[in-house]
Amino acid sequence: MTALLSVSGLHAGYGDSSVLQGLEFELHKGEVVCLLGANGAGKTTTMGVLSGLLEASSGRIRYDGMDLLAMPSHKRVEAGIALSPEGRKVFPNLTVAENLVLGSFNVSARADRPRTLDQVYALFPRLAERRAQCAGLMSGGEQQMLALGRALMAKPRLLLLDEPSLGLSPKMVQVVFEAIRAIASGELTIFLVEQNTHAALSVASRGYVMSAGRIVHAGATQDLRHSVEVRDAFIGGRAAREMRHA
Ligand code: ATP
Repeated sequence: MTALLSVSGLHAGYGDSSVLQGLEFELHKGEVVCLLGANGAGKTTTMGVLSGLLEASSGRIRYDGMDLLAMPSHKRVEAGIALSPEGRKVFPNLTVAENLVLGSFNVSARADRPRTLDQVYALFPRLAERRAQCAGLMSGGEQQMLALGRALMAKPRLLLLDEPSLGLSPKMVQVVFEAIRAIASGELTIFLVEQNTHAALSVASRGYVMSAGRIVHAGATQDLRHSVEVRDAFIGGRAAREMRHA
């Protein structure tokens, strides 16, 4: 299988604090892959480097035959990489529709904007109902739908989802993950960072476990679900309990 994205020897951090310590992983076209790990393992930092928000200090990332680290973030969006960030980060004073349109300013998405907008509204009827409402007045779950919808407006080939379950009620987690399942068919590759291992393993076909800036375990979903080391040593108490019920 050809890798769409291949990361090797990646180091990155903040000032003097080194977070990613030789990260290595691959994503193949059309896969849903999750990245699990305890608080502070470096998952969001990884997303930051992939999306271009954060510079790597060394290492290599190949994306569709290109040197990703040499590309500024707007070029990465043009090349099909879209991030739905942790904590949603919608524009609170803009309407739902305006937030969505802002996701589609890349050349590759602009021409298809009306059709993609219809697809996002079909995926999340709640957003269609609230299209004229200020995003800041939406519930946490609705804002998560909006963040996901905005990323989809860029017509990505690689969708980066950073903790879509964060702060949501179990019912809303279900709604958001049903939507992820619905968009996961076909060519789209999804890289999903989650602390909610139960939800992550319900959509991913395989995953990586990260600890202290490195991948410490990799496997198919079934394998990860039953892995005692993953459960006890790397993921931590809360996630371990969730995995037992997965
Ligand atoms: P969580 O699930 O809690 O978000 P994570 O695995 O996503 O955890 P990161 O957010 O990547 O972890 O953080 C990795 C480390 O980098 C942590 O020790 C964190 O304190 C540190 N860190 C994150 N952002 C910054 C920043 N802007 N400046 C300095 N240190 C940071």
